Amino acid sequence: MKIGILAVQGAFAEHRAKLEKLGAQCVELRKKEDLESGFDGLVLPGGESTVQGKLLRELDMFQPLKEKIEAGMPVLATCAGLILLADHLSNDEHVYFGTMPVTVKRNAYGRQLGSFHTIQEMKGMGEVPMTFIRAPYIEKCEEGAEVLAEIEGNIVAVKYKEQYGLAFHPELDEDDTIHSAFLESIKKYKALSK
Ligand code: GLN
Repeated sequence: MKIGILAVQGAFAEHRAKLEKLGAQCVELRKKEDLESGFDGLVLPGGESTVQGKLLRELDMFQPLKEKIEAGMPVLATCAGLILLADHLSNDEHVYFGTMPVTVKRNAYGRQLGSFHTIQEMKGMGEVPMTFIRAPYIEKCEEGAEVLAEIEGNIVAVKYKEQYGLAFHPELDEDDTIHSAFLESIKKYKALSK
């Protein structure tokens, strides 16, 4: 199994290390040609969504990636990645891929003091550690988006079709639950689409 990891900015190396540890092959997506390397799943890492959005357009990667996601490619999007997937941002006029029917609030816990760590139940996965860094949260889910985790009434993890959107950074904790679940979901998706 091969995973494409968006590597224009942000915490992509940590995702790579974790996925390789779990036996997946990884390709870093830095330029348009990398999108032709035949990967089965996509990681959109945390970082700064405005910078990532700008670079994706400048590098001509935006449209082909959007098309892949719309065609059903499984995605694991964390933090800034979740912002890129959301079809509505409540405190920002941008919309990036817009492939997930959720309203996301950027820097929802505050810009400076909004970093924290907790352990929380993820639907169907048990308790997982969650590290939040200037994190967004999901204010509203539209039809088809399934809430996977909430903290104090705020949604922090969602699944829509084959897209996982997380407000936190599972790549920064030792725990492998979420990356394993992502790889499993790709296996299932591949089996179904054969
Ligand atoms: N605050 C960042 C943004 O709005 C996201 C932070 C993160 O990815 N850790 O893009």
